[in-house]
Amino acid sequence: MAVHQWKSSSPEETMAFAEKLGLRLRAGDVLTLEGDLGAGKTTFTKGLGIGLGVKRTINSPTFTIMKEYMGRLPFYHMDVYRLEDSDEDLGFEEFFEGDGVCVVEWAHYIEEFLPEERLDITISYDSESGRTISLKTSSAHFDEVCKEIMK
Ligand code: ADP
Ligand code: MG
Repeated sequence: MAVHQWKSSSPEETMAFAEKLGLRLRAGDVLTLEGDLGAGKTTFTKGLGIGLGVKRTINSPTFTIMKEYMGRLPFYHMDVYRLEDSDEDLGFEEFFEGDGVCVVEWAHYIEEFLPEERLDITISYDSESGRTISLKTSSAHFDEVCKEIMK
């Protein structure tokens, strides 16, 4: 397990960094995204989608909990903000153990359903256009991927 940090100075840089990550993901990968409103979680997810070969525009799924996209793999974008304080099991495991890549905004609201092996990403606000992106790994696969994208 390791924590990697990367500094972004614009939305475009955040997307380009996430795209590099997206290129290296594989089926069954689960990523969590934490950070205040406006930190850049959805911006990061748009870059991931590009890296995964999604052609459609990715928007915030706040009102639907999950949106599914198709790239070189299925890409499940979840925003579980609305599930705060609910123990509702909406069948997340099926997606986490499935055929695609999952990214979960506000993942701590569904902590009990998250797999142990995942990449935890936190975006924090430094300045109007500055962000620190922290990546916490819990497997050799994600360690490898992070080392490659930090180069
Ligand atoms: P969240 O999903 O975390 O609420 P969004 O991605 O929807 O956040 O919004 C982030 C906002 O911050 C966007 O308006 C984006 O243009 C802006 N922004 C400014 N600098 C950055 C940066 N370095 N990385 C990501 N977003 C940034
Ligand atoms: Mg968002």
